[in-house]
Amino acid sequence: MNLLSQLSLSAQKYGGKPAFIFEGKETSYGELDVLISKFADSLQQLGVKKGDHLALVLGNSPYFVISLYGAMRAGATVIPINPIYTPDEIGYILNNGDVKTIVTLDVLLPLFEKMNGVLPQVEHIISCETPPSEAKSGLDASSLSISPKLKSFTSIVAQAGANPAEVTLEDDDTAVILYTSGTTGKPKGAMLTHKNLYSNARDVGSYLKMNDGDKVVATLPMFHVFCLTVSLNAPLISGATLLIVPRFSPAEIFKLVKTYEATVFAGVPTMYNFLLQHEGGDKEDLRTLRLCISGGASMPVALLKGFEQKFNVVVSEGYGLSEASPVTCFNPLDRPRKAGSIGTNILNVENKVVNELGEEVPPGQVGELIVKGPNVMKGYYNMPEETAHTIRNGWLYTGDLATMDEEGYFTIVDRKKDMVIVGGYNVYPREVEEVLYSHPGVVEAAVVGVPDPNQGEAVKCFVVVKDKLLTEEGLKAHCREHLAKYKVPGSIEFLEELPKNTTGKILRRALKDQVLQK
Ligand code: AMP
Repeated sequence: MNLLSQLSLSAQKYGGKPAFIFEGKETSYGELDVLISKFADSLQQLGVKKGDHLALVLGNSPYFVISLYGAMRAGATVIPINPIYTPDEIGYILNNGDVKTIVTLDVLLPLFEKMNGVLPQVEHIISCETPPSEAKSGLDASSLSISPKLKSFTSIVAQAGANPAEVTLEDDDTAVILYTSGTTGKPKGAMLTHKNLYSNARDVGSYLKMNDGDKVVATLPMFHVFCLTVSLNAPLISGATLLIVPRFSPAEIFKLVKTYEATVFAGVPTMYNFLLQHEGGDKEDLRTLRLCISGGASMPVALLKGFEQKFNVVVSEGYGLSEASPVTCFNPLDRPRKAGSIGTNILNVENKVVNELGEEVPPGQVGELIVKGPNVMKGYYNMPEETAHTIRNGWLYTGDLATMDEEGYFTIVDRKKDMVIVGGYNVYPREVEEVLYSHPGVVEAAVVGVPDPNQGEAVKCFVVVKDKLLTEEGLKAHCREHLAKYKVPGSIEFLEELPKNTTGKILRRALKDQVLQK
């Protein structure tokens, strides 16, 4: 069993039911299945073979969904890439990932035109028409040097048949390669197999009780694994309807949830913060949501509780990483959710907290979180050493520090590499951030370690506040009330906004670099 065979089953079972709705237009499960097959057929006509690498440089749209599964049906390995990456970043992944075919939007063609000389291995560039909501490119594609490689998505699909040659997909075949930012150096390509993707979609879906009555808001970026599994694969194999959002905005989310009576919303904590702070947000707006899912970064407890109270919904936090397809833990729905915790093992996946020797530590003690299960990646593409370092004895070492309580609930303490050591004492930025978020005047907070001549490192924090009268001393006093002296930030900087990546994660590293460059 894999995602493709499950999608065919969904088409048989749910035929005329909408698989997704985009800009008011519905596409049924039956139509989606035909489009996937046609795209697979057109790729085969272009000569794409099993195991060839195909990059998707697309935002959230039906093109993404159709190309993703169509390429898989043709046996290709898909490499999703963030479309707003710089040319250098995109070029790196295309080269490192040995990409032969690119599917992208027409507005992005100038970027590939510029790269043409350095991408000799790219044979085809399939260009999708910009959705009506986006700006038109106004580009004359025939004048470009890449024009011999160019194909129009719409025309090749229109000319294709709906019966591509059958390709046998083995469980261990690589379905996608996800380039993760990693901690240091260049991004690494996590190879996820068909088994990895299917098992995680199935296990997360059943843990969160996804079903054919669900309408799931797909606003996380589709090129990111969180969206891929939680907002695409799991709902589609459960017969749910996706509500595709090209770009997150609180007003759009409130409108969409109301219009379609959405039942599931999945987002990163910053999205919850934007929804909570949005002036037009009203208790009634999210009434139909049976479940709000948070992941990707730690959810400050004050934010979680504030959101639940304002909108009268349940927020369930989970945890995952690209290398685990991604989900390993979630707060269960049939037992109380614990605020601040990432929940318990999902089905078929084991999590453990270990010391430096790889031995399990007792409940309550901090150690590295390691993971085992059918969701754990095959390895990093062309990086055997990195793979051997990350997967040891069948366990994936996450690089995240965590604790487990007596009831098997895990809590992320912080990234191992983000820990600050002040005069020999460990300070976890998350703990300090939680205290800052608990101040009613604080909207966002990030804590980093900076060099200090006396203590080795010092705690520095960056905040965005809504109470403009709030002072550095006032916030430090609040921290002193709740934290041991060595954890209290030495300095606090007030910013208009914090840097975030396109998934919405706050970039502590960028803030630290700013300090180091001064
Ligand atoms: P990515 O591979 O981009 O999905 O990033 C994975 C990383 O995000 C993990 O290793 C964690 O550091 C972080 N992460 C994901 N979910 C959570 C969570 N619920 N709490 C804290 N950190 C998280």
